[in-house]
Amino acid sequence: MNVTLVQGDISEQRADAIVNAANSSLLGGGGVDGAIHRRGGPEILEECRRLRAGHYGKGLPTGRAVATTAGLLPARWVIHTVGPVYSRSQDRSELLASCHQESLRVADELGARTVAFPAISTGVYGWPLDDAARIAVAAVRAAGTSVEEVRFVLFDTAAYEVFLARISR
Ligand code: ADP
Repeated sequence: MNVTLVQGDISEQRADAIVNAANSSLLGGGGVDGAIHRRGGPEILEECRRLRAGHYGKGLPTGRAVATTAGLLPARWVIHTVGPVYSRSQDRSELLASCHQESLRVADELGARTVAFPAISTGVYGWPLDDAARIAVAAVRAAGTSVEEVRFVLFDTAAYEVFLARISR
């Protein structure tokens, strides 16, 4: 598997699947979630509502992943995953790794070969960027997956540089 990096907006990525840094309600939020729903149109939210009405009545648990249509986005699927909120007193690294592993497992089920990830949990969920990059890169490299390209999409130069340093190690 190739791990690649781009600086940009996840909602503009051409990929089989793009990963959403969702919250457990699946009903929208800010940051990555806001950009995906804004650009992807109402179809994505409609499918999220159906998931809430069915199997995910209590919401999507942290560390898990589920796919929907990508609506108007230049991708085939959105894989929604819920990152852990960063905690100084509790090590939640396994949950952050799980977001990446579960997203790739769902990608395999779909037959996706290219998957774009944002820097999960590093926005409002407060995870320090370098530590999140370490966990994310290690998790995707360790995943047994048929995905051929994992593309990390970083919103700004600082985040891009941090991920670049991590994948170069
Ligand atoms: P979380 O709630 O998991 O912390 P956020 O969406 O708040 O998720 O932020 C995750 C990361 O994605 C942050 O580093 C943020 O700067 C970045 N980000 C925000 N909007 C976009 C976007 N449209 N495309 C790619 N990355 C984005």
